[in-house]
Amino acid sequence: MTSLQHDLDQLLTQRRWLDPIPEGLRLAYRQQRLEEFSRVVRLWAPLLPLSVIGFQAFTLIFYTAELHGVDLWMLLFSEGSNLALILVGLLMASKATWRESFDQWVPWLFGPIAAAKVVAGFLIRSPVLATNQVYITLMVLLIGLLALQLPLRACLKGCLLGAVPFVALPWVPDLRYGLLFFGHYLLTASVAMFLVALREDKDRLMFLQSVQLRKERQEVQRLNIELAELARQDALTGLANRRVFDEALRNEWDRARRHRASLALLMIDVDHFKRYNDHYGHPAGDHCLAEIARAIGGVVRRPGDVAARYGGEEFVILLPGTDEAGAGELACRLIDRVDALRLMHEASPTAPFVTVSVGVAVCLPVGSATGQALTDTADAALYEAKAAGRHTARSRTLQYAESGDQASSHLSTGAH
Ligand code: GH3
Ligand code: MG
Ligand code: MG
Repeated sequence: MTSLQHDLDQLLTQRRWLDPIPEGLRLAYRQQRLEEFSRVVRLWAPLLPLSVIGFQAFTLIFYTAELHGVDLWMLLFSEGSNLALILVGLLMASKATWRESFDQWVPWLFGPIAAAKVVAGFLIRSPVLATNQVYITLMVLLIGLLALQLPLRACLKGCLLGAVPFVALPWVPDLRYGLLFFGHYLLTASVAMFLVALREDKDRLMFLQSVQLRKERQEVQRLNIELAELARQDALTGLANRRVFDEALRNEWDRARRHRASLALLMIDVDHFKRYNDHYGHPAGDHCLAEIARAIGGVVRRPGDVAARYGGEEFVILLPGTDEAGAGELACRLIDRVDALRLMHEASPTAPFVTVSVGVAVCLPVGSATGQALTDTADAALYEAKAAGRHTARSRTLQYAESGDQASSHLSTGAH
């Protein structure tokens, strides 16, 4: 298990408040947050300037009586600067390079927006209009912090920057009003920050869970592939197993019949293997089979050839598009290769080392016959090789009458 996986498992089992993102996943988490921010920007881009203009129109219509002198200029300053800052923000967010560092610069725009509202809330003389600015400040704070999907730290930075004008609190003419405004600001910012923290906690958990899920899915896929591989492999020798051979024989038989091509089969049996087991023990027998399987794998060269363990100490090699001469030559090569292993076999009456016998069957599949005819023929050829003293190959050609089904096989003496 990698240390990242370990960290992930631990985080998800311990489940602390605002789980830290492990080092190796920070980039991916940041990328996810960036995508979320981009989505929010796409959604809000037309709404934000429209809502500022809407607010402005609302104020102009309902507060006409209060809008004169300094108050009018203050309102225009606060709404105008807000609109300008929002447009700058949208412009920056539209550039990919700027968007990447959104959590760095968004607080520097959001803070002044809130600050301009605070200033307007203090400097506007009309109590009705000033109160209206206070409400809008709090709304900007709450909605802005919740909607922007900023990380917790960036939100805190934005709130602090927005609160800068409150340093002038001791000098405001109406301290009670000033403190009340500040209190509301603090309270709203705290509630907003708490909600942001809740959201961030959930975001982090969901991110960690999604990584975990992805990793588990990959692991399941890997295991499935491994399992499928194992289901096709013989555990002792690593060659294909009987199931794969049966399937390949069916397919190649049909293909050879369609293309009127030759199909050859080698059936290989270890000579006096029972004696080998009795003499050297079963584990040594297993090792011997694995070595022979390696030799068998070594003689198979073409991609369509299938070498498999047929059962016990018997192996097969299926050779599509191969005639009797080619298959016979391969059988001889195989016998030589096993000889070259020089696996000692003191109990064998045939040779002082392990040898194999090979039965070769070749045919041009026609009619309704099945691949079973080919294995039967290879088995018969193998029996003849054994009868001929072992450590040799015998070949049989399976021939069909023109009508198809009538088969006859005859032995050819082409031996090792
Ligand atoms: P022949 O020359 O006529 O083929 O004689 P043989 O002794 O090889 O043939 P027989 O069929 O009498 O014996 C085959 C032996 O192969 C018997 C069995 O214990 C052994 N065998 C089959 N599968 C395995 C295996 O996976 N591991 C080991 N160690 N032995 C096996
Ligand atoms: Mg046998
Ligand atoms: Mg044998």
